Amino acid sequence: MENNQSLYQHGTLAALVPGLFAGTLTVNELLKHGDTGIGTMDGLNGELIILNGVVYQATASGEVVKVDGDAKVPFANVHFVHLEESTPIANLTYLELKDVATKRLKSQNLFSYLSVHGTFSSMKTRVVHGQQPPYPTLTETASQQEIFDAANVTGTLTGYYSPALYAGVTSPGFHLHFLSDTHEMGGHVLDCQLTDGELAIQPLNQLQLHLPDENSEFLKADLDDEAVLSDIKKAEN
Ligand SMILES: [Zn+2]
Repeated sequence: MENNQSLYQHGTLAALVPGLFAGTLTVNELLKHGDTGIGTMDGLNGELIILNGVVYQATASGEVVKVDGDAKVPFANVHFVHLEESTPIANLTYLELKDVATKRLKSQNLFSYLSVHGTFSSMKTRVVHGQQPPYPTLTETASQQEIFDAANVTGTLTGYYSPALYAGVTSPGFHLHFLSDTHEMGGHVLDCQLTDGELAIQPLNQLQLHLPDENSEFLKADLDDEAVLSDIKKAEN
């Protein structure tokens, strides 16, 4: 049954830190749990933006492509989108936008989905290059990412707010990706300047965490908390 308040997550951010990048769930299976979301592909290849049940992959070559249903993800979040109302917002830096969104959260103790459809006078994203085994660590991939800058681009800023308490399971705070309406530009958002747009927030009161129980590397990995958390801060900011 579709549940309007359930956030589904495959994989755990902590497992990406030491380099567990192998895809462990098919896109078809992922889409049974939601029509909207974000994630990455096998080998940490690109940044996923899932809108209206379609999975788009922003690649390090600068293209955005649709992903096949049998491709696998090591990490993704999805939910069924249900936005009751949106609020017009304008002339905001990325920090200001996140401040405004934080004030509109029902609570900072709930997970929430956030969507801003609008025009951005600037948009800066990053896209990680696909990695080959033996995989590097997550922080090592930072030197293997591409930065994309767009001016006056219209599209959707989309992703999740997670309470800081769950850092390690997922990125604390806002984790947002972008996809232009033309499907030509996207990625993990580093910075932007909003001209105007509509902000909508969907609170989520359930987290369904699905772990890769058939992946032997995951089963054997030592996911040491403190090192994991400090590396998450380095990699995801
Ligand atoms: Zn991301």
